[in-house]
Amino acid sequence: MPSADDTSDTLAAAQALLIPTYAPLPIVPVEGEGSTVRDRSGRDYIDLAGGIAVTSLGHNHPALRAALEQQAGRLWHLSNIFANEPAIALAQKLTDLTFADRVFFANSGAEANEAALKLARRHAYNNGHPEKYGIVALEGAFHGRTLFTVAAGGTPAYSEGYGPPPEGISHVPPGDAEALAAAVDERTCAVIIEPILGESGVRPLSPEYLRAAREICDRHDALLIFDEVQTGAGRTGTLFAYEQLGVTPDVLTSAKGLGGGFPIGATLAAEPQASALGRATHGTTFGGNPLACAVAGAVIDEVSKPELLANVAARHKQLTAGLAAADPDRTLFAEIRGAGLLIGAELTEPFTGRAKELQLACLDAGVMTLIAGANVLRLAPALNLTEAEAVEGLQRLTAAVETLRP
Ligand SMILES: *Cc1c(COP(=O)(O)O)cnc(C)c1O
Repeated sequence: MPSADDTSDTLAAAQALLIPTYAPLPIVPVEGEGSTVRDRSGRDYIDLAGGIAVTSLGHNHPALRAALEQQAGRLWHLSNIFANEPAIALAQKLTDLTFADRVFFANSGAEANEAALKLARRHAYNNGHPEKYGIVALEGAFHGRTLFTVAAGGTPAYSEGYGPPPEGISHVPPGDAEALAAAVDERTCAVIIEPILGESGVRPLSPEYLRAAREICDRHDALLIFDEVQTGAGRTGTLFAYEQLGVTPDVLTSAKGLGGGFPIGATLAAEPQASALGRATHGTTFGGNPLACAVAGAVIDEVSKPELLANVAARHKQLTAGLAAADPDRTLFAEIRGAGLLIGAELTEPFTGRAKELQLACLDAGVMTLIAGANVLRLAPALNLTEAEAVEGLQRLTAAVETLRP
């Protein structure tokens, strides 16, 4: 069995060799099965983090492995100068199962959003309105880390120091339909919204607000873009969250859980807008990669099964009840919220800013969790998390909570 020194050596090497944008947690996971992960010292963890809402079917899922291995023996890459079968098959599934008529494949959530925002601008431009390039987004929203997507995101610190951001982007407070109505005008080409703001604290937006957003967009001929990079691919209990909200967007972006751990992003759009990005107006070398699309095709097959979606609902109940039971007098958790297997527990005032400390205590207790900002503990486990894995994870999480409660 490797010694603990291997872990500290790996972490020291990470610190020395990687451009220091990240601060890795103090373990080195090396293998996983379902929602159990083992680190270099052989210790096991229940994975309620899911690689930040990515490993939608856990680790080492047989169907995903089979899809990857089968495609690996055929073709890895062609580029978009050729059509490839896995990409077309995946596009067929995504369009059959959603409002969309066409798909653009990319490699990440940021790229999927970049394409969505470019599509919205190009749509207005193609219709003779080059001045109609305004984008309205929400304060606190997260849309990725390219310059365009951080500018669209609602965290000014993420744009700091990178020179002039793309112009024409404004922000309004989430959930305030009047503020949105006031910000959108005839120069607005798109409104971009996460149906549940993920990174900024797992904050769901109400169906009423989203319906108002739909009406406002229709009134001004602006596209409604739903960023479902975090909420999509079954995470909230339906293939995409919009299905539960009674609001259909014009453009939807997916990534994270879509690949189950293999990098992929997708921009879905209905016609006629979908054709706004015409030949040579946008592109990517790797987008539509056969390996990624083969795996994502298997993910879609699995996560659109009613049993799997029923499991999401059952585990939501179990995890939210377990979080509440871990803190019965609500000393620590002010609110437990979210949908499906995207769950946030906001800390009470006395624990403000201590989500990271709780996350570390969880890791110590053998359960991997996420935070969403400094005040929210976030869970985004695999959608096939079993009842037994959830029981074990909650036991460990409860032990961690005990170390923080006075
Ligand atoms: C993670 C995330 C992104 C960015 O995805 P990347 O793959 O990291 O580029 C965009 N939007 C939302 C809502 C996300 O949660």
